[in-house]
Amino acid sequence: MTQPIEFVNYPCPWCGAPGETSIDMVSGDREWVEDCGVCCAPIVFRRVDSGESEEPEIAVWREGE
Ligand SMILES: [Zn+2]
Repeated sequence: MTQPIEFVNYPCPWCGAPGETSIDMVSGDREWVEDCGVCCAPIVFRRVDSGESEEPEIAVWREGE
């Protein structure tokens, strides 16, 4: 059963620090921006999961690229 909120870990594309973000599996956006908790730089997140797995997958990159 898919949980409504999933947590995923990611490396900050700016400073490399490990971070964690939550994904709203029910109505969440496919792409969003959050600031890194360590270096405060804007990180773009995009869900890339195919739907075949219940585990959410995300891609991260630097905003502006
Ligand atoms: Zn960072």
